[in-house]
Amino acid sequence: MSNENLIQEIPEKADFARFLGKQKIDFVQRVVPQPGPGQLLLKNMANSLCGSDFPFLYNGNTEISPGHEIAGIVVKAGENTSTSAGTRGIVFLMGYCGKCRNCKQGNTNQCLDKQADYGFTHDGGYGSYSVINENVFFPIPDDVSYTQGTLLLDIMGTGGHAIKRAQLVHQSPVSMIVLGAGPIGLGILAMAKIMYGNDFPVLISDVVDYRLDLAKKLGGLPVNLNNGSLADSAAKHGFKEVDIAIDSSGKEVARRSALDLLAQRGTLICVGHGEGLQLKISPDLIATERAILGSEYFSYNELKGNLELYLKNRDYLDQIITHTYPILELEEAFRIFVERNSGKVIVEY
Ligand SMILES: [Zn+2]
Ligand SMILES: [Zn+2]
Repeated sequence: MSNENLIQEIPEKADFARFLGKQKIDFVQRVVPQPGPGQLLLKNMANSLCGSDFPFLYNGNTEISPGHEIAGIVVKAGENTSTSAGTRGIVFLMGYCGKCRNCKQGNTNQCLDKQADYGFTHDGGYGSYSVINENVFFPIPDDVSYTQGTLLLDIMGTGGHAIKRAQLVHQSPVSMIVLGAGPIGLGILAMAKIMYGNDFPVLISDVVDYRLDLAKKLGGLPVNLNNGSLADSAAKHGFKEVDIAIDSSGKEVARRSALDLLAQRGTLICVGHGEGLQLKISPDLIATERAILGSEYFSYNELKGNLELYLKNRDYLDQIITHTYPILELEEAFRIFVERNSGKVIVEY
């Protein structure tokens, strides 16, 4: 359908994915919601699959349609909005208030009065339509496809933010390791290459050949943990230590071995949720002046800079998208994604 038709012909009911648990997904017809004041109605056009969808995939959620890496087109704007119907864009998943102390400082990923997490608490991109607050919508240029637009979210956004967190404590790193070569890990790798330059060495570990091959294509130095310890494999690449370690795996053993590989004054950034980490405070932190920081998603205001980076590096970044499926094949898309022989898997309308 043309953009005009999408705006003029909003159906009364449309398909919304329903996650039934045990990797089963079906579609039900539901009433298309109306945008309230300050809100936009989006016709969703693409959504990228994410490991954060797994609790819904395995345990089910019939309350909402998940999907939090949304690209779509505004088909109807509520009162008190300035975005016009026909605007294409992507959705920042956190419905931030814009008024609290953290939002005022630009830290919209740390909002103290969050209204929604789109795709978690409210309908997301696996339904045909979603209603969002206008302030989470970010327009994309005409020559960036919806599918490409989703790269600005968890790939560039979350990846870039993790590196900016590291920059708070380390201004002159000469090496980095990324733990886990899933989509988030690949995003961190790609953003490190873009932000520090192609010669900046980034080791990246995993156990899945497909992902390590893709990481290598993106310029990473692959570390296959099936073939030995992190320290041994890093040594084979010529690294006895690294300045920055970023964990996207959520595994304690990964964090621990990364910390042991960290140089003095190095920093470990934790992006992957999951397990814990036992610390020996004196050797781990005090004597070595290392730092450990968390990094959660990214701030809305980072999207603008990341779009500029995308436009300069689009061919490089597009390599992260390895599979696309029509939305009605969402269950199959997840089957492929779960097998881990993929980069980003994206469903399209
Ligand atoms: Zn995600
Ligand atoms: Zn806020």
